Amino acid sequence: MNCPECAGELKYDRNRRSYVCTRCGATWKREELDEAHEKLLDEIYGGFDEKKDEKAKRQKEYLDWWVSKEKKK
Ligand SMILES: [Zn+2]
Repeated sequence: MNCPECAGELKYDRNRRSYVCTRCGATWKREELDEAHEKLLDEIYGGFDEKKDEKAKRQKEYLDWWVSKEKKK
């Protein structure tokens, strides 16, 4: 699982019962992760311009991976 902000690796913190990003330090509850991914999908697929926004491009690639992984369930 990866951070929706920076796509860094997330580690589960049992004490906080949340996921902590090893790259940017953000903490996420499981439901917050789901929400953040949905919001990113809306933003990126809503108005995606690959020349204009390198960050959006990276996030889209990551989300493509995320969605394909989710579909396999
Ligand atoms: Zn992060």
